[in-house]
Amino acid sequence: MQVKATTKIYGIFGHPVGHSLSPLMHNSAFAALGLDCVYTAFDVRPDDIGKAADAIRALGISGVNVTIPHKQAIMPYLDGISPDARHTGAVNTIKNENGMLTGYNTDVGGFMRDAREGLGVSPEGAGVLLLGAGGAARAVISAFGMNGAKRIAIANRTYDKAEKLAEEFARLFPGTAIYPVDSGDDSAMTKELGLTDVLVNSTSGGMEGSPDLEINIEALREGAAVYDLVYKPRETKLVKEAKALGHDAVGGLGMLLYQGALSFEIWTGENAPVDVMRKAIS
Ligand code: NAP
Repeated sequence: MQVKATTKIYGIFGHPVGHSLSPLMHNSAFAALGLDCVYTAFDVRPDDIGKAADAIRALGISGVNVTIPHKQAIMPYLDGISPDARHTGAVNTIKNENGMLTGYNTDVGGFMRDAREGLGVSPEGAGVLLLGAGGAARAVISAFGMNGAKRIAIANRTYDKAEKLAEEFARLFPGTAIYPVDSGDDSAMTKELGLTDVLVNSTSGGMEGSPDLEINIEALREGAAVYDLVYKPRETKLVKEAKALGHDAVGGLGMLLYQGALSFEIWTGENAPVDVMRKAIS
């Protein structure tokens, strides 16, 4: 494409951000639909997030994605927050309409769409065991809480964080039992695994450059599905082990794809060319 004076600018704020697949994904989508738009990456240091939000307005940037470590920090600088983002306590997409910035969270919808379509998960009434209590865990809890899961057990390496998260979300979703589990307590974990319909890894364990998760999933209930948010590598040790035990299991590339597709639709009002976007990041 040719960048012209009329070209609308989109991008991603992160730190670091050089590894992001979003520019590839969105530029392919803009090209496929012949839109006069371009998407780039902005490495924004944590101290500069307020200035970066002002720059969206000052420079007339049409929209941005927000990733680690800014998803929560940017919220006070916005003019409006969608219900998904408010529930989750994090924003990953911003739309600029004449200087008014609205924050959305498409991780929630992106995760749920891929869990349903890619893994055949039915969240309604499901028993969920969630590994991790960071930013991504919040999106997963929101997705299951908003879709009527029966139970969400949160197991995290640092127990306190699981406890705090469970307390916060139990208030938000009173129809779902949300409680912490001590991931170091083998008998508690075995019991939970036996009750689980969907096991979700939202930790960075198993990600390229991070040590693998230390979890034995032999006690996982028969027929349970496994969703690993990690997409680098495409198949983590957890996904391989789950498949070897006969479970349906997928990595997080589909979530990345669908959160991007939802952001694209918020910005452009057009249906996202999902096949083109998938090909760009595969
Ligand atoms: P975060 O806020 O930094 O949280 C990291 C979590 O992982 C914490 O709960 C941490 O436990 C735990 N952890 C880290 N290394 C671990 C290990 N070796 N063993 C056990 N637990 C470990 O990060 P995040 O934003 O939630 O992201 C987490 C992962 O999700 C990343 O791999 C990210 O790429 C992925 N993600 C994927 C998508 C997607 O579209 N597929 C979207 C968002 C995130 P402590 O509390 O004990 O430190």
